[in-house]
Order: sequence, then C-alpha cells, then structure tokens
Amino acid sequence: MRPARALIDLEALRQNYRLARELSGAQALAVIKADAYGHGAVRCAQALAGEADGFAVACIEEALELREAGIGGPILLLEGFFEAEELALIERHELWTVVHAEWQIEAIERATLNRPLQLWLKVDSGMHRVGLHPAELRDGYRRLQASGKVASIVLMSHFARADELDCPRSREQLAQFEQACAGLQAPVSLRNSPAILGWPQLFETPQAGNWVRPGIMLYGATPFEQAQQAAARLRPVMTLESKIISVRELPAGEPLGYGARFIAERATRVGVVAMGYADGYPRHAPTGTPVFIDGQPGRLIGRVSMDMLTVDLSDLPEAGLGSRVELWGPNVLASEVAAHAGTIPYQLFCNLRRVPRLYSGA
Ligand SMILES: *Cc1c(COP(=O)(O)O)cnc(C)c1O
Repeated sequence: MRPARALIDLEALRQNYRLARELSGAQALAVIKADAYGHGAVRCAQALAGEADGFAVACIEEALELREAGIGGPILLLEGFFEAEELALIERHELWTVVHAEWQIEAIERATLNRPLQLWLKVDSGMHRVGLHPAELRDGYRRLQASGKVASIVLMSHFARADELDCPRSREQLAQFEQACAGLQAPVSLRNSPAILGWPQLFETPQAGNWVRPGIMLYGATPFEQAQQAAARLRPVMTLESKIISVRELPAGEPLGYGARFIAERATRVGVVAMGYADGYPRHAPTGTPVFIDGQPGRLIGRVSMDMLTVDLSDLPEAGLGSRVELWGPNVLASEVAAHAGTIPYQLFCNLRRVPRLYSGA
C-alpha cells in the first residue's frame, strides 16, 4: 500500500477548541467548513460533539452532511442562504443562518415558516466583502424583529487583518461595529482565530453570551507569520507523512527531476518520497522547504511532482529506503511549509486529497 497518509489527532483538536474558549471567555462555534479544513468534517464534529457550543460551515450542503451523520445542536451557515427556497431546509433541519444582504431580509419577511429562525446578522465593518452597510444595520435588525419569524439575532462582523499584529485596522473595525450596533441589545460575534489569539486587549469586558468562531486554530496551525505567545499553545492536529521509496546517489553536476530545478553541487544522496501535489503537497515548495526524516530535520530538493518529491539525504546516513518522512505535523509546522511555498496553512489543509486520513483520539 502506498505509504502516504494523514494522521488526525482528535484529542489535539479538542484541546485547541478548549483553548479558544479559555482565551475568549465566550461561546465558540467550531468552524468546520470545507470538510473541516481538510480534516474531515463529520469525524471532527463527532469528536467535538460532547463539548462544542455549535458548529459553523460555509453552506447548506455542508450542514446537511453533518445532520445526515447525526450531528445535532447548532450549525451556522456562514455564507448564509443563496436562494429563498433554502429557508425551508434551514427550518426543517434547525440550522442557523447568517443574513448579510437586504434581499435575504426580504426573503425572510416573505417566507412561510412554522418555527422562528435563529439569525446572525452580519455588518460590513471594513472588510468590504459581504454584510449590511453600518448605516443599514439598525433598519435591518428592526425589520427582522418585526417580521415575527425570528427567535434571536446575533450581531456579527469579520476582521480582515487580525493576523497582522501591529495593524490598527482591527481596532478600527471594532469601533465601526460598535457604532453600527449602538443601542441594540444582542449577543455579538466578531472573532476568528487570529482575533482570538492575537487581540485579547480588544475584548476585555466579560464575554459570556457572545460568540467566537475559531477555524484554523482548531487544527493547531498559527494564522500569524511570526511567533506568537498564544499560538505557541496550539497542538497540530494533522501529520502528513509518507516514506522513502527509492534512494540514489547523484554525482556532482547532475540535475534532479522536472526542469532540472536542482543541480547537485556535490555528490548528493537523494531520497524519493511517495508524496506529491496530487496529494495536496504544494507544488511551489522550493528546494530548502523543511521536512522531517526519521526524527531528523531535513530538506526538500528539486521540483515537487504529482506523486513524488525528493529530499536530501546527504547528511542523514542512517536514513534510507522505508524511512518515515513527515511533510508537516508536530515537527514541521504547516505554517512553515506554507511560508516556503508562498501560501498559508489554510490552503495546504484544504488542498489535501488522495491520502487516507487515519484518526486517533476519537
Ligand atoms: C472561515 C471563517 C472563520 C474562521 O476563520 P479562521 O481564520 O480559520 O479562524 C470565522 N468566521 C467566518 C465568517 C469565516 O468565514
């Protein structure tokens, strides 16, 4: 059997979830959209079912997958509904939905429902992607309350730059949000992972009743480019690993792999690993990207191909055929690999495919 696989540590997932609650003092919706960032939404939801205050997914298709697997409790649709017809399913499956546009308010006003909805009303505090304009929030809120179809409303917004720890923008967005909501008595939800980890000073008042929305931190990856104290407490959930399936001696001056992207400066011992971009390993990871080989730090060399990649074994004489290679996990952080490849850990996780996922700590 091909040795490439992703080990998923569900106990680490639970610990990261608890950290989100501890740091925020708020209720936490575990964000498990996009198949739990590649970790498997159903398995992650089952692992958190005993303690999570609820879950968040992108869309109704993702929510129904969880309901079909028997996941109860709150599930929020972060992107809201895409057409008015979805309201019937939202009602039937007792889902919560974001409302981010005026047409959705109108759709709710017109809908025939037997049960009142739990809504999260989104205001655009400066990200400028979705959400009601701050000046329209009050009116939207009143219309929903007056519709008779709403059980409760959480006021929400989303930070654009919370991962930049020296950037004033999050503070400005918070001020914009507070101004838009002034006088409205409702719980609020603002924080994603970087805001939970990096901006405690913005949320010092007691947060009971409010909500946070941790995503990437649940999976144990830091959203920051630099070291950060709270993020250092995260435990990586996924270990992407494989084995060396071939070893050869490359004489000085010889090229390696597609495009001769690596040319041996000295005689080089090359290990070939069963892992490639078809598994989700980033093709743009250059020579020098860290890997971990039989417990020792090592480096990728040459271009990543579809099913294989190559590593330098010249300084690792003990390593050879069958050696275990960690591509990311506790010893090589996904955020480091992402930085080398010019992307973010979110994308590495979401791109995972073909490799079987093996779970522990259920
Ligand atoms: C994806 C998402 C989150 C989670 O973001 P992380 O940076 O992964 O914590 C939170 N809120 C909304 C609206 C999202 O779409």
